Amino acid sequence: MSRTFIGMPAFPKAAAVSTQNRQMRANLTHATHTIRDKRARAVAELDDWAELRLAGKQIKDRTLARLDEYLVQAEAAVTAAGGTVHWAADAAEANRIVADLVKATGEREVVKVKSMATQEIGLNEALAAEGITAYETDLAELIVQLGDDLPSHILVPAIHRNRGEIREIFRDNMASWGRPAPEGLTDTPADLAEAARLHLREKFLRAKVAVSGANFLVAETGTLVVLESEGNGRMCLTLPETLISVVGIEKVVPTWQDLEVFLQLLPRSSTAERMNPYTSTWTGAADGDGPSDFHLVLLDNGRTDTLADQVGRQALRCIRCSACLNVCPVYERAGGHAYGSPYPGPIGAILTPQLRGLQSEVDASLPYASSLCGACYEVCPVAIDIPEVLVHLREKVAEQGGAGHRLERAAMKSASWLLDHPAAYSTALKASRLARGVQPRRLPLPGAAKAWTDSRDLPPLPEQSFRSWWKERTPDQSDRNKPNAPNARTEPTDRDQQDGAN
Ligand code: SF4
Repeated sequence: MSRTFIGMPAFPKAAAVSTQNRQMRANLTHATHTIRDKRARAVAELDDWAELRLAGKQIKDRTLARLDEYLVQAEAAVTAAGGTVHWAADAAEANRIVADLVKATGEREVVKVKSMATQEIGLNEALAAEGITAYETDLAELIVQLGDDLPSHILVPAIHRNRGEIREIFRDNMASWGRPAPEGLTDTPADLAEAARLHLREKFLRAKVAVSGANFLVAETGTLVVLESEGNGRMCLTLPETLISVVGIEKVVPTWQDLEVFLQLLPRSSTAERMNPYTSTWTGAADGDGPSDFHLVLLDNGRTDTLADQVGRQALRCIRCSACLNVCPVYERAGGHAYGSPYPGPIGAILTPQLRGLQSEVDASLPYASSLCGACYEVCPVAIDIPEVLVHLREKVAEQGGAGHRLERAAMKSASWLLDHPAAYSTALKASRLARGVQPRRLPLPGAAKAWTDSRDLPPLPEQSFRSWWKERTPDQSDRNKPNAPNARTEPTDRDQQDGAN
């Protein structure tokens, strides 16, 4: 059973360990650079990409502003089509609903379509506690599950593994989950795919219950939509008798016409494809056509609180394309596990602390897991201003205090006193120059000061202060207007011209 992120250390500590893993970094660098280059080419093919992106943003914002109405409309449509809608306020409630529904069928196993929402709530572990085994059927999820690993990417959860590692995982662990890996399995993609196909086929043909998420929920008809590349999702969505879909409340789009925009934005942003290989849609339940019993679990789990935050709510526009992960220099080096959440990378750094709150050390560290370079904002197909939300969340973390922020406030107070007293400032500069030779790279102090330099080097003090550098170049203030003086003013400034005009 794949594990949850419970008990992970805060981002700086986890990243300090993960950045030492050269194999993982090599795997990630290769994978993210390949996909980001392909994505850039796929996006460049469309002349109207900027308009599409704006449309995606506007549709999501308009929907979020009236989310309650669209959800009620979707519930009515699903019910009218023969489905049953359940509302789950949090992870525990959602897990309980799904476990009860599975138990009511008398089954003890389910097949799963790849789903971030079920990872978010830890559904597999909750089902296991009830004696129900959940089989992941997405290839990358299967690798994670067989390897007793954690996902490290939204779209490619096993992105941190290379082909050789995958072969080992299949060879060593497939047998304990069902059909063993074929004899003499190599690490060629075709061989690995065939091993997964054979292993999964017996599960598809046996399972009576499937669990999925959804990329979108169309309110006007109550239709759920899943986009995928392998076809395993479609097997789960059509073969079993009972289908249970766990869907975040922000996945709703009002109409099919709105959906059209996202069906263009998502494939190019995520897998750099012009259109998705498999797009499955289902509405309620019908005898003789797919599952005869359909349940939709609408998941809140922190989304309503996120919606209430005027700046932070834009994270709910996310369509989980993972483009922001693939361009993020921090993600590329630290890897997905360091974020302590199924949502890693830039979107994880703003979504996880909003869904889970900022109380824990892990969640309070996530808004700082970024260089604020803005690459994530540039590629986001729904224009989520991730740097803006990161800074907003950092403000919240600072407001709630903590040893680090008390120290920061004290440091700022001392700095402002020093800047108000030029003589003391000048003495401090001289003293710091003298201390240059013995300056450590880490602060030897206990507590927050040490924690600060544990995750970053103390910048070296410059040989010369800016003041003395400036003084050397401006020997005499009375010379300022001489033509050859370094800071001579030869051209009138805008302000001079305004003054003259007045
Ligand atoms: S934040 Fe934007 S770029 Fe990142 S996964 Fe979500 S939609 Fe994609």
